[in-house]
Amino acid sequence: MSDIADKFAKLQSSRQRLRNSSAAERAAKLKAIWAGVVERKDDIFIAGNKERGTHDLDIAAELVMIKGEIDFAVKNLSKWMKPEKIKNSLNTMGKRCEIRRQSKGVVLNLSAYNAPTAECLVPAIPAIAAGNAVAIKPSEHAPHSAQIVQEIINRTLPADECEVFQGGVEVSQELLGLPFNHIYYTGGMGVGKIVMKAAADHFASITLEMGGKSPVIIDETAELENAATKLAWGRVMNAGQVCIAPEYVIIHESKKDEFLTLMEEKINALYNSDGAGLDKSQYVPRIINERHSGRIKALVDDATKKGATVVCGGGSDIANHYIEPTVLTDMSEDMDIMNEEVFGPVLSVLTYSNREDVLDIINRRPSPLALYVYSTNDEAIDYFLTNTSSGSAVVNNNCIQSGTNPRLPFGGVGSSGMGRIGGFEGFKSMSNERSIVHQPLDRFRDILIMLPPYSERYNNLIMKGLK
Ligand code: NAD
Repeated sequence: MSDIADKFAKLQSSRQRLRNSSAAERAAKLKAIWAGVVERKDDIFIAGNKERGTHDLDIAAELVMIKGEIDFAVKNLSKWMKPEKIKNSLNTMGKRCEIRRQSKGVVLNLSAYNAPTAECLVPAIPAIAAGNAVAIKPSEHAPHSAQIVQEIINRTLPADECEVFQGGVEVSQELLGLPFNHIYYTGGMGVGKIVMKAAADHFASITLEMGGKSPVIIDETAELENAATKLAWGRVMNAGQVCIAPEYVIIHESKKDEFLTLMEEKINALYNSDGAGLDKSQYVPRIINERHSGRIKALVDDATKKGATVVCGGGSDIANHYIEPTVLTDMSEDMDIMNEEVFGPVLSVLTYSNREDVLDIINRRPSPLALYVYSTNDEAIDYFLTNTSSGSAVVNNNCIQSGTNPRLPFGGVGSSGMGRIGGFEGFKSMSNERSIVHQPLDRFRDILIMLPPYSERYNNLIMKGLK
């Protein structure tokens, strides 16, 4: 048996014990994880800085997400674990119906690199809260963060309850060959398909958290300066390596010129306030590695070759994983950047003259993870929300819908993902919602009218129901 299979067997061996664990026991584990995070906070900052040059406060925001989920789960766990009474229908009259949420067994969390500590720990929270054993596979592209997560977990939970598997794609592939009961995946669509196929072999349920091209609609009534400020932040934050980051803007043609001027101004105001240069800014982190830096530069080069205009930015230093915050316009559909997720600090700007065109641009693409509308016209906002689809949406802001409110479930739709995380929805997705009907045995309620040979009364009852 390989080391990975051996560790998996240990996790499997504790399924029943964890399923029967109390709310207090599970809450204690979550609190211990948080205490471990707090204890290693400075090391987590150093790791994020080494990996992406990320500012401490931006990494702290990741930790706030972890705390928010843990606090909410700890507070609500007893309630979530209680059997839920279900109202009777005509057909279950006299019986007692309930839902009991039981752990699924062993959950795999296969995670990505862009917010590595949160992506390792946030999905583990509902998994542990629901009484599962958990395997965490951190991204190989964020090895320093992975090491700290492993040390935190090793110190807080026994190896038959939670295990961290570090390594590259070969480790992910070996894990995917094992009969996990639920697989939670964060990453790109290509690997998302691999995960779905692997899950099918063992009938594992899945949550897929992927990405895509999240659009921004700015209509002629929008508060442009406000929108440009928020979009400069949304696109440049974490150097664009944010799954819900705005990827492209569709703006009413009458506002385009003003908006482009504002975008350049706001990017500089937020990220180059001392005038030392965006490349020197402590707030503009690096792309995770040379391969992804080169990929983003190639998208910009392809767009400019096919006619895109660089409004601002356009520079890069691939060896140092730097992509200058960039705004492009004069886009066309044949550009790779209009069809592939950038996952970097490059915003494309398109225009529209009538709003049906906006729907056409968005709806001919796969459903995105997020959609943003900037407008002060309620009717227009409603029109754009009603006629498009996305995992989540925000009106007059961006990137504030994830990790900010555990009552607001988060996830994608179609190729941007499936399943939800956050609070009770996350807990439910890691649980088997078991429907239970209790039949009382007294002669008034234990009526076996539906058994053959069928009576005239039963026949009339059923046939009446068909009318
Ligand atoms: P990544 O390269 O870190 O890969 C993610 C995981 O998949 C890793 O653990 C890796 O080992 C595994 N993996 C990679 N190739 C594999 C293969 N061939 N077989 C099996 N496993 C494999 O991350 P990434 O995929 O580049 O992440 C970026 C993507 O993640 C973007 O598309 C982004 O939008 C998305 N994302 C989504 C969310 C969300 O919550 N929806 C959050 C963050 C990132």
